[in-house]
Amino acid sequence: MLFLAFVISSSSYSQNEDSVFIRRIADEILVNGKAYDNLHDLTKNIGGRLSGSPQMYKAEQWGIKTLQQNGADKTWLQECMIPHWIRGGKDEAFFNVYGKKNLARLDVIALGNSIGTPSKGVSANVLIVNSFDELEKEKDSVKGKIVFYNYKFNPTYVKTFQAYGEAGQYRGSGPSRAAKYGAVAVIVRSLSESTDNNPHTGTTRYDTTLPKIPAVAIGLKDADLLSDILKKNQIVNVVLKTYGHFLPDTTGHNVIGELTGTAFPDQIITIGGHLDSWDPAEGAHDDGAGVVHTIEVLRVLKALGYKPKHTIRFVLFANEENGLRGGTKYAEEANAKNEKHIFAMESDAGGFTPRSFSFGGTDEQLKKVQSWIPLLYPYGVYEITNGGGGADIGPLNRTFKTPVAELAPDTQRYFDYHHARNDVFENVNKRELELGAINMAALIYLVDKYGL
Ligand SMILES: [Zn+2]
Repeated sequence: MLFLAFVISSSSYSQNEDSVFIRRIADEILVNGKAYDNLHDLTKNIGGRLSGSPQMYKAEQWGIKTLQQNGADKTWLQECMIPHWIRGGKDEAFFNVYGKKNLARLDVIALGNSIGTPSKGVSANVLIVNSFDELEKEKDSVKGKIVFYNYKFNPTYVKTFQAYGEAGQYRGSGPSRAAKYGAVAVIVRSLSESTDNNPHTGTTRYDTTLPKIPAVAIGLKDADLLSDILKKNQIVNVVLKTYGHFLPDTTGHNVIGELTGTAFPDQIITIGGHLDSWDPAEGAHDDGAGVVHTIEVLRVLKALGYKPKHTIRFVLFANEENGLRGGTKYAEEANAKNEKHIFAMESDAGGFTPRSFSFGGTDEQLKKVQSWIPLLYPYGVYEITNGGGGADIGPLNRTFKTPVAELAPDTQRYFDYHHARNDVFENVNKRELELGAINMAALIYLVDKYGL
């Protein structure tokens, strides 16, 4: 009851009218929603959509068709050059403890953008380090070794993206930092807290002034096993075979649909997710969910006969995972055309129950969106934090200072699936997915109606 009193007294907006319209958004999505079916289509009929792959091109055509079917006034492909990295084969690793005969298999996956090993593989003893500080202390022992970064997620963070943010540097710059001291390859503990043994890929970035060495991620059970053996001061030899390499850059596309604004057609609100995904799975949470969220917001606004004041663009971005070329191109073209971008929103954190939005803008804008929390609260969003939008709309924010937001669903299970072979449709819950679309549509409606 206390909360209800707060709702009624806290805002000058036409709360009743807004809460009624948002209720209609919710009912339409919960009764007639297409997000789950669209996700099934994208993941099962197309699958993983790594930049440059045949599935990426199939997904672009699917995106145009689906945006049209869901009521876009117009649709188009926006061309951009994209990197074309391929895995090239099945990544493999075996280990052997000194003095013992048997080889045992490790479950590994090459990091995205990683170079492959020579055809007979890389064979070397393993040096374990739990952090970059330990690497620096051990730097004189690194030469000729495979460095194993066993950095663990900090389990005390309730919001797991914080742990991911800290651990991410080992995947991103770990290979080059080890190569600096003469390492021949790198194994990274997967950026996850899952209880299974699936390895998680993701982009690594070579320092071009240092030798490039192959890099793989390892599942958590294997990581703990290796770590236990190495703790006993036993010598472990690993044979690693990977095949990754780059083909020449190729052409990809942002897939764009638009609802033209009735009052301010030249003022643009963007909502999007990224269409590309890593190759071991179907890219269901990352970022199939964001793609179908975006299309569902279009569908529900059309279904309710909503006529936006501003132009709303629905963008399925190209190449977020290993280049961000799509998001970069979108902002570049907006700049070249002198477009006015008043708000952008992304969904790239999975299809789980919504909890909050993170927001990047001025304090005044943040206060304004926070005043709408009571309208979102019935559908799961209880806070709007000062954070920022997603990667794809970052360039828009940096170019125009466009305020940005990102849907922040519950994070407890996200890194169980992220970039791993189990990021599949079956691990997305229909209602949780739909609730995400409801909150996104509601916030788009409020920004369109009141501006920022
Ligand atoms: Zn993503």
